Amino acid sequence: MEPEYLRSFYRKLIDGNHILHHHSLFDAYGHLSMRHPLNPDVFIMARNMAPATLSPDDLIEYQVSDAEAFDPGSPEGYVERRIHSEIYKRHDEVNAIVHGHSESIAPYTITNVPLRACYHMAGFLGPGPVPVYDSAQHRQSGDVPDLLVRNEYLAYELAKRFDDGNVVTLMRGHGLTVVAQSVELAVLRAIYTKKNAVIQMAAMTLCTATGTKLEDIHYLGEDEAEAAANMTRWSGARPWELWVREVEASGLYVNHA
Ligand SMILES: [Zn+2]
Repeated sequence: MEPEYLRSFYRKLIDGNHILHHHSLFDAYGHLSMRHPLNPDVFIMARNMAPATLSPDDLIEYQVSDAEAFDPGSPEGYVERRIHSEIYKRHDEVNAIVHGHSESIAPYTITNVPLRACYHMAGFLGPGPVPVYDSAQHRQSGDVPDLLVRNEYLAYELAKRFDDGNVVTLMRGHGLTVVAQSVELAVLRAIYTKKNAVIQMAAMTLCTATGTKLEDIHYLGEDEAEAAANMTRWSGARPWELWVREVEASGLYVNHA
């Protein structure tokens, strides 16, 4: 029973990678992982490769404890895979994680302009500014200053940003990391975080062009954000089905799982 049961999860993980590429959350870089459905001390993620061309043979099982592959003969993994292990270690409720470098997000990571929930599809961002993790604040002597989360310590500091129910963290000069209870919800949150970033940029541009005060932009309030976050939780199957059909129809993506 186990291989057939797992196959549906592999299929979902591969679809999720393809969808995130199709929606420009990923390019040749970026990664989506899921916690193993039968063993919470394990997570599954692609080998070091472009997510658009992922197939089942490229999936590797890693230990949550140290992000090392179970099979020592596994191909090379992503250098940033400790982002995933440290979050799974700290947050039992998280079963899927997206990390990517969307250019729509980047401006909010390098300015003092906070990303905020602009519309109902992004209520999961919460009523306050989305937190920004700065690797420079946590680097130790000898660490390579390339902004990548290369070691357990840098990843541990990032994992703390998901305390208190936060589900999205921006990363200065780098990108974003998104967590959820399922692959479908992680993908949805990543996609709508990006759309929200584009909407906020348009609203700010509109204000600047018309001499309207930026302080007058009406972001979601606390009760609105909470209610809207619940809405995307129960309605998330609808976009997932559409997005799977889109990648199946595109010709670039092949899911062999
Ligand atoms: Zn990265």
